[in-house]
Amino acid sequence: MRAQHQQQEHTNSYYAASASERTNYPALEGAVSADICVVGAGFTGTATALTLAERGYSVAVVEANRVGWGASGRNGGQVINGISGLEKIRKKHGDGIADTLWDMKWRGNDLIRERVARYAIDCDLKDGFAEVATKPRQLAWIAEYVEERVAHDAPQTYETWDRDQTRELLGTNAYHGAFVCYRDGHLHPLNLCIGEARAAVNLGATFFEQSPVTNIEHGARPRVVTADGHVEADAVILAGNAYSRLEPKHLSNLVFPAGGYIIATEPLSDELADEINPKDVAVCDLNKVVDYYRLSADKRLLFGGACNYSGRDPASIAAYIRPRMLRIYPQLQDVRLEYEWGGDMGIVLNRIPTLGRINGNVYYCQGYSGHGVVGTHTMGEIMADAVAGTMERFDLFADMKHFRIPGTQWVGNQIIALGMLFYKIKDRLP
Ligand SMILES: Cc1cc2nc3c(=O)[nH]c(=O)nc-3n(C[C@H](O)[C@H](O)[C@H](O)COP(=O)(O)OP(=O)(O)OC[C@H]3O[C@@H](n4cnc5c(N)ncnc54)[C@H](O)[C@@H]3O)c2cc1C
Repeated sequence: MRAQHQQQEHTNSYYAASASERTNYPALEGAVSADICVVGAGFTGTATALTLAERGYSVAVVEANRVGWGASGRNGGQVINGISGLEKIRKKHGDGIADTLWDMKWRGNDLIRERVARYAIDCDLKDGFAEVATKPRQLAWIAEYVEERVAHDAPQTYETWDRDQTRELLGTNAYHGAFVCYRDGHLHPLNLCIGEARAAVNLGATFFEQSPVTNIEHGARPRVVTADGHVEADAVILAGNAYSRLEPKHLSNLVFPAGGYIIATEPLSDELADEINPKDVAVCDLNKVVDYYRLSADKRLLFGGACNYSGRDPASIAAYIRPRMLRIYPQLQDVRLEYEWGGDMGIVLNRIPTLGRINGNVYYCQGYSGHGVVGTHTMGEIMADAVAGTMERFDLFADMKHFRIPGTQWVGNQIIALGMLFYKIKDRLP
């Protein structure tokens, strides 16, 4: 079974090895008072803390391990517009909110770009994200999406590639075509998270690391408790996502941890990098169980694929992922792998992030279903708005019904694993 993660250093990832800063914020000791206390320093926690600090709140962030230790510091780094489940919200509320949802879809992209520029965060941000069709029937989705985009965006923000162009621009025969969006892109996620934390600190926020929160004591000023101290605040934001076990009465069995895995090659030669991705875009296929990849700034191929819903990590991540990479790029047969790692993402049954509040002043948002680099930033802003009493966007999510799988987390994981098996089989159909 996957180990419980408490007070650990970063996993052995390419990102940890190339991090811009080795954070070393103090552990929480004694009594601290703040306007807002945030639990967890992934993107949800750090982006929310930065928004709050920008708005003049005093913020204390309490992290069990290190800033960006969880999924935020381990992911594929693909900056992809949207939040999963938005279409379900539109179905519930009708076309009247279509514009609000469209803006929400892009808000996280804009926030990331604004912050990278304003705080000079060095995180290798690049434009371009290609969604690729592994089967002809997926071309219909691309055509439909192009129509939607033409109605909203300047034509230069996207491209469609036919089979030949895709072969030429991605150096593989594996795809039938692609849709490429230049408002999306890719980046070094751990460096973004560390940079946003640093920006929040420069605006007066306080970060505590190596400080697992063990309990929330509710009240007019709730208390966030760790082994050696506590923070008292007007409001608390829970941002522990798939790694959190807090507030089980309200939050257990809503979000299920699924393991995602990535391998990183040695730096490729310029010729090879140019052959497989001359436009340096992030790539993801259109299957339910996706393969995704991109080049790092030093031209490694970072390839992620498959997802493990069983609660057990594979014995060898490389043995699990490398064959998937070689199916797309047989020309990398002799390229050495230098890193392999995994992390937990929070999966929600209906794919809509679960957002809400407990006892009026403890807010939470979790469960981006593998699509959270952008969504965490949008949701962070939505929670910061809610703390100040602006509930319009918050309520759109808080009103959505979520199914709680009865029984233990293990039972939930088995049900999710079974559901994904169905999708894996569907992905194999032509
Ligand atoms: C392998 C992988 C690849 C992915 N690829 C992509 C991608 O390319 N693009 C994309 O958009 N999304 C991707 N995702 C999803 C994305 O990374 C997540 O949706 C996002 O990072 C979630 O951020 P978060 O802050 O909510 O959670 P996390 O980043 O997991 O942060 C939670 C933090 O809370 C802390 N914490 C938990 N409990 C406590 C406690 N009791 N006390 C104190 N601290 C606590 C943890 O230590 C952790 O640091 C991927 C995920 C994985 C695992």
